[in-house]
Amino acid sequence: MSNRFRATPLSIALLAALTANIAHAADVSWVDPAVAQVNQEVIDVRHTLHQNPELGNTEVKTAALVADHLKALGIDVRTQVGKTGVVGVLKGGLPGPVMALRADMDALPVKEMTGLPYASTATGVRLGKTVPVMHACGHDTHTAMLLGAAKVLAQHRDQVAGTVVFLFQPAEEGAADVDDFQTDTLIGAQAMIRDGALDSPKVEAIFGVHVMAGYPTGHLYYKAGTVLNSSDGFRITLKGRQTHGSAPWSGVDPIVASAAVVNGLQTLVSRRVDLSQGMGVISVGTINGGAASNIIPETVEMTGTIRSNSPAIRDTLLKKMPPLVQGISTAYETEANVLVVNHAPVTTNDPDLTRSMVKALELAAPGKVKELPASLSPSEDFSYYAQKVPGLFVFLGATPADQDMSKAPNNHSPYFTADDATLATGVKAHVQFVLNYPQRNTAR
Ligand SMILES: [Zn+2]
Ligand SMILES: [Zn+2]
Repeated sequence: MSNRFRATPLSIALLAALTANIAHAADVSWVDPAVAQVNQEVIDVRHTLHQNPELGNTEVKTAALVADHLKALGIDVRTQVGKTGVVGVLKGGLPGPVMALRADMDALPVKEMTGLPYASTATGVRLGKTVPVMHACGHDTHTAMLLGAAKVLAQHRDQVAGTVVFLFQPAEEGAADVDDFQTDTLIGAQAMIRDGALDSPKVEAIFGVHVMAGYPTGHLYYKAGTVLNSSDGFRITLKGRQTHGSAPWSGVDPIVASAAVVNGLQTLVSRRVDLSQGMGVISVGTINGGAASNIIPETVEMTGTIRSNSPAIRDTLLKKMPPLVQGISTAYETEANVLVVNHAPVTTNDPDLTRSMVKALELAAPGKVKELPASLSPSEDFSYYAQKVPGLFVFLGATPADQDMSKAPNNHSPYFTADDATLATGVKAHVQFVLNYPQRNTAR
């Protein structure tokens, strides 16, 4: 090191001033009362959203509510990003980095059975069919918590070092107006990224929080590196030649071929991937063919899902699956058509970012922060943002602590509930990400 910085009295005074500055910036004692002040509004917004759920890519009323709230706070707003998404930009009073906070707004085609006073009775249209709609994954809480954080940060913008980009995205769970197998239509996070959600201003890091049933209210969970599985869907059609069930030799039987395909797919995981790198799953979820017991049908259609917590295993499965199906199909003299649709890559938390943000989590939930021992099996399209910029996706417990965690209905269940009492912790987590990220190098 050069002697350019010598410990002269002046430089010591400068250092003391700098340290005082950092100590001042780290004073976050105002956060808890500020969050407490918006808490009832967050709960009310959450109930409104819960009663008025909208399917992916149809979040019109939700997006309007979000845009109105952000505008009322003096936050710059862009709408119709990634179809129905909303982007808010808040410039802090101090110089600093650009940080994104992400919430998803979409609900699921589920008939709510919770019996809550604010339960949904809504319906929506999904691929031409009217279906019941419910916030069965807690995205109503995500939107409400991020609006709460936006209010707290806007009211204290003089304390914010840098710029906050609020991303309210549609269609995390899929789009109601897009057939899964029209693979050229980008939805959700991919559509938001295509429409510049990370570009203007240029985002340096992104954060997300997801509520989880079966984990206690007010607790936060994190993991560095791989945290959620990838998700890819497939549809396989096997075409044979229809004939009489008494004379299979006079046709081509796609039923027997489909049985071989189902078994063959399982050998990809057990024989063809390096299982020391992680796990993989191929599940056939539907299989349809035939109309009568004495007819060998013309076609069989199967759909299924591929999951993995390793990008390498996912790549191998995606690469080897179509030729395996083609090979088996050829051996049985059927014609195979294989369509694969990519829903989400493996969600990976940036290890440095994760470690440097543990302090922010501790400030949001003192004594209630745990590191997950292993990645979790669901998937999230947050992964697409985290492929572009360092990302951190954490989980917020949503089941009252006095309940039996093992009996809590899971996310996506018609009985899924997220405890109102956990919302304040989620608001705080978002606020603390923003306050702590600019000082992450000094705070370690
Ligand atoms: Zn979900
Ligand atoms: Zn979700």
